[in-house]
Amino acid sequence: MSYVEEVYQNLEKKHPAEPEFLEAAKRILDSLDPIVSANEDLYRKNALLERFVEPERIISFRVPWTDDKGVNHINLGYRVQFNSAIGPYKGGLRFHPSVNQSILKFLGMEQILKNSLTGLPIGGGKGGSDFDPHGKSDAEVMRFCQSFMSELFKYIGKDTDVPAGDIGVGGREVGYLYGQYKRLSGLYEGVLTGKGLSFGGSLARTEATGYGLVYITDEMVRGVGKQLKGSTVVVSGSGNVAQYAVKKAEELGAKVVTVSDSSGYIYDPNGINFDVLCRIKQVERARIKVYADRVPGSVYHEGEKPWGEKCDIALPCATQNEINGADAAKLIANGCWCVAEGANMPSDADAIDAYEKARVDSGFLFMPAKAANAGGVAVSALEMSQNSERLSWTFEEVDNKLHDIMINIYRNVSTTAEKYGHKGDFVTGANIAGFEKVADAMLMQGMV
Ligand code: NDP
Repeated sequence: MSYVEEVYQNLEKKHPAEPEFLEAAKRILDSLDPIVSANEDLYRKNALLERFVEPERIISFRVPWTDDKGVNHINLGYRVQFNSAIGPYKGGLRFHPSVNQSILKFLGMEQILKNSLTGLPIGGGKGGSDFDPHGKSDAEVMRFCQSFMSELFKYIGKDTDVPAGDIGVGGREVGYLYGQYKRLSGLYEGVLTGKGLSFGGSLARTEATGYGLVYITDEMVRGVGKQLKGSTVVVSGSGNVAQYAVKKAEELGAKVVTVSDSSGYIYDPNGINFDVLCRIKQVERARIKVYADRVPGSVYHEGEKPWGEKCDIALPCATQNEINGADAAKLIANGCWCVAEGANMPSDADAIDAYEKARVDSGFLFMPAKAANAGGVAVSALEMSQNSERLSWTFEEVDNKLHDIMINIYRNVSTTAEKYGHKGDFVTGANIAGFEKVADAMLMQGMV
């Protein structure tokens, strides 16, 4: 039995009730096989994989809070401090009813590799609660955040663990969490990222994930002698990532013909009008169907996803599992030759299999989320740097650094794939490139 298989089988025995974590661990371990085989004796001697798959620490706690009617509630809170080999734990907090230890361990493991790919000194972590902010009043959300932080503050700090937002945790929640941390610790320090600009947030953080996605896509298509300029792009979603992916893709000369929300999608043959999109989503907070009333020539497709539209490049920026095998087949049949993931896990396993087959058959390009959407966490790490310096950089400074980081990620992923005999396979390239640096640091730091 190979070392990778052995480690996975032990993991299965130890954590039978964690299906999401086991699935992610299996996918990651399998793709690491080329580097593990090449270093098997060294890794075995240092129990490297056994250490890599277990979090350094998991903190779990109850979160008591009282709603506006005086009714008491108890939620569960977690922080998975997965790996600090290359820097302080870094990763978002998710407030959603589906949150449990298995999901947070799965997200934490992915985060280790994503953070490593940025080239910045940030380790991997993830946390959150099964609290659902939907339908809660502002005061309820504040009381919940204060109670959550009253326990979490003991375990985090600017040099130990720096959480951020994720699903259900936006600027409002980060503000309340930061306020309570400051009150309890007495410290004004960069312990959270995604902060408001008035208290240590970074310029260009809002744009970072969407812009970063387009920067890496541009570099990837250049890598095969093609161009983003003049290409037709299909985008899903119309939230933060989608909006700034549309803006940057259009600035670089592509024509983006779709955006969507969970109710349907817009097709605009003349290219999505970013200003109209932003007004609808950021100011009016309306549904995307309104776009068709405002922009002549555009059409709204109720209840459908945009993957049937003809395009060169698809940028899924909405949610997990939004492209299944049939959607991927449709995209490929319609001439799409590139997918880069803005959302986390938007392509399901069948879709990824379809991309891989098309890659082998005809050079299809696929950049997985941990590389393609790393621009968000990269600028969060730049927020940490600015907080430590007690300085704020200009938008252009941050954007230029983001651009360089995304180009470096592409080069690292691409050359690593080639080095391990998987040229053009950016899934393997991203996993190995992320892992290589973490493994090196873990080996040098000894059995900790
Ligand atoms: P937003 O909440 O701003 O936007 C999400 C968008 O996806 C909305 O348009 C939403 O539509 C749509 N959507 C949600 N669920 C579905 C569904 N089931 N079917 C179709 N569309 C759906 O989120 P973000 O833009 O911030 O995040 C998008 C993705 O990117 C997520 O996977 C997130 O984890 C990932 N990501 C985000 C980062 C960031 O910096 N923001 C960083 C890295 C990853 P509706 O309004 O109808 O719900």
